[in-house]
Amino acid sequence: MKYLNSKDLWLNQLADTVNNPYELLKLLKLNNNTKLINDIKTKVSFSFRVPKIFVQRMKLNDPNDPLLMQVLINIKELRNFDKLTNKIYLESNLVKSNLIHKYSNRILILLNSGCAIHCRYCFRRDYLNNISNIKNNIKYIINYISLNKRINEVILTGGDPLIVKDKNINILISMLEKINHILILRIHTRLPVIIPSRITDNLCNILANSRFRIILVTHINHANEINCSVIKSMNKLRKANVILLNQSVLLRNINDNANTLAKLSIKLIQAGIIPYYIHLLDKINSNIHFLVTKRKAKKIMKDLSSKVSGYLLPKLMYDK
Ligand code: SF4
Repeated sequence: MKYLNSKDLWLNQLADTVNNPYELLKLLKLNNNTKLINDIKTKVSFSFRVPKIFVQRMKLNDPNDPLLMQVLINIKELRNFDKLTNKIYLESNLVKSNLIHKYSNRILILLNSGCAIHCRYCFRRDYLNNISNIKNNIKYIINYISLNKRINEVILTGGDPLIVKDKNINILISMLEKINHILILRIHTRLPVIIPSRITDNLCNILANSRFRIILVTHINHANEINCSVIKSMNKLRKANVILLNQSVLLRNINDNANTLAKLSIKLIQAGIIPYYIHLLDKINSNIHFLVTKRKAKKIMKDLSSKVSGYLLPKLMYDK
């Protein structure tokens, strides 16, 4: 067997995926579950993709496993609601297909279209294919940011920006560092939770040596996603002077109660991550079955505030 150094390990784990929901049910000993089998008997546009390293955190024989429910295709994805248009959610603030400028002080760069995992609730799922190759727009992006002196923070997102290899992340950071008015670099990513080995020594060196204050925002919805490997990777990032925040999405039957969220907040702080935001689902036609109403969300947050210290209470975010 080929020896894998830590540089290669994450790329191998990224490629080692389950791409068929039937195979996943088999691995979890759920291949006799008629309800789940009926639910996945459907053709959906957003493909199925789960790295095996993440599957290892799912419980065997549990059709309601909160990690499984985030990734398993469901026939309800095909429902169509007249009021929801699946319109490209970003277009109103899009400068170019890789650049979104909504608030004056900060700008989003959509670095790439790929993700390690395909989360069924994702509101970007129909948009991901529209993200251009960054190489085609990088000159424009750097020029746009250089000319807009009110921007002091750049946010890298995608897809998942950490799918980009260390070498290319380093090149981008170096280009941004030449723009004096940029002070903060924020990275929104789910990858270090799905594949903790993504946090390579090389990446930590790049981040530690940057002149930017770097904030990494993880996306974790349930305490079961955090295992020892995730905690180790987060420790590496903290040693590299990276500030760690988390954002979650409130998901029906997955994390929509105060006890589950209290466990998540405790586990996050054990991993050195501050619970930052909890988002109400951004609705598109294919994800409505995950929706928690605003009223219920507010009640959950009230209950949560009596169970955790103030610094463990994420802020509830929703469109007004
Ligand atoms: S990793 Fe993020 S962008 Fe990718 S499918 Fe999941 S929620 Fe969507």
